[in-house]
Amino acid sequence: LFASVQLAPKDPIFGLTEAYVADQRADKVNLGVGVYYTDEGKVPLLKAVIKAEESIVAKRSPRGYIPIEGPNPYNSAVQNLLFGAESELIKAGRVVTAECLGGTGALRVGADFIKRLNLNAPCAISNPTWENHRGIFESAGFEVLEYAYFDGETRGVNFDGMVKSLESFPQFTTVLLHACCHNPTGADITEAQWHQVIAICKEKQLIPFLDMAYQGFADGIEQDGIAVRLFADSGMSFFVSSSFSKSFSLYGERVGALSIVTQSKDECTRVLSQLKRVIRTNYSNPPTHGAAIVAAVLNSPELRQLWEDELAQMRDRIKAMRQGLVQKLVAAGVKQDFAFIEKQRGMFSYSGLTAEQVERLQKEDGIYALSTGRICVAALNTHNIDKAAVAIARVLV
Ligand code: PMP
Repeated sequence: LFASVQLAPKDPIFGLTEAYVADQRADKVNLGVGVYYTDEGKVPLLKAVIKAEESIVAKRSPRGYIPIEGPNPYNSAVQNLLFGAESELIKAGRVVTAECLGGTGALRVGADFIKRLNLNAPCAISNPTWENHRGIFESAGFEVLEYAYFDGETRGVNFDGMVKSLESFPQFTTVLLHACCHNPTGADITEAQWHQVIAICKEKQLIPFLDMAYQGFADGIEQDGIAVRLFADSGMSFFVSSSFSKSFSLYGERVGALSIVTQSKDECTRVLSQLKRVIRTNYSNPPTHGAAIVAAVLNSPELRQLWEDELAQMRDRIKAMRQGLVQKLVAAGVKQDFAFIEKQRGMFSYSGLTAEQVERLQKEDGIYALSTGRICVAALNTHNIDKAAVAIARVLV
């Protein structure tokens, strides 16, 4: 039965972590991850999460099935976070939200749902993008195209290229857009450029699908929601996948959501009914714990404030590491201009390191990064940053 099964390639990120774990060097550094670490190099357990969890555990609730689309207190908290508590769309009942298994699950449920609309159109992802985007949409049966995004010269967005690509796509192409903190490049488009993207999506009748995996990691909850708010104002129907893996440090709980903006309350009812079929035939209904934590935090003014403070600390620490790395590279004698690292946003930076340089870092110093040169700035800390800067300076020569 399995004689002809081929060995699949390892996932580039999880595969790299396996190599890192096997490395015996005490001062090894893993910058290949997609996880925020504290200054002590640990995955944080947020105080807001601990408090919420304590109150949930104290209740000793039974674990019956929850609704297919997840619990209402969670889904409405997600909507408020994405669209703003005063959103006209929410008031008009035009947004459907379903709890999903992390941002990944939300993308997949969304992809399956769009596929069932039988539009016979492709999906387009940024070049480059988070490697799972392609896999998710291909697995859902889409042809996957790419739109130009990163400019290797400026280390920012090649916006002209992006516009040209978007304009070339056929009607009903699903366009996957990073709402903020682009993974892997850290380069985001500006508010003015979002307006242009929206105009193209409207004119060409593209289907916008915003992937919001890092809300709060660039400038703040509200500020990072700008793309969602602008699309909400545009009057278009669109999709948002969101995740609490990073912002709540709840990676393993798999807690995310898919939100769909429709044209009317009636459309919402019909869309939700179909969404439930997608979910029911996939994993039936979502898990209880992660969503209960997030709902408890977001629906309590006191815990929400605590969470926002903790999120701000994570954001500020990443920014300090960005600044620190740029300064330390200069101090280590690097002549090239690395100031772009400070401008990039979120957990990642496309460092410009070549695959050979990344390989040398791994071999000579036990510093792990992706062969594309993506480094996770959120894995730098005051204990490893000097070593990282000196090693990077050495391989750059
Ligand atoms: N989208 C992007 C752009 C991501 O970087 C990630 C996580 N690396 C996800 C979605 C999925 O996150 P989750 O762990 O919540 O599935």
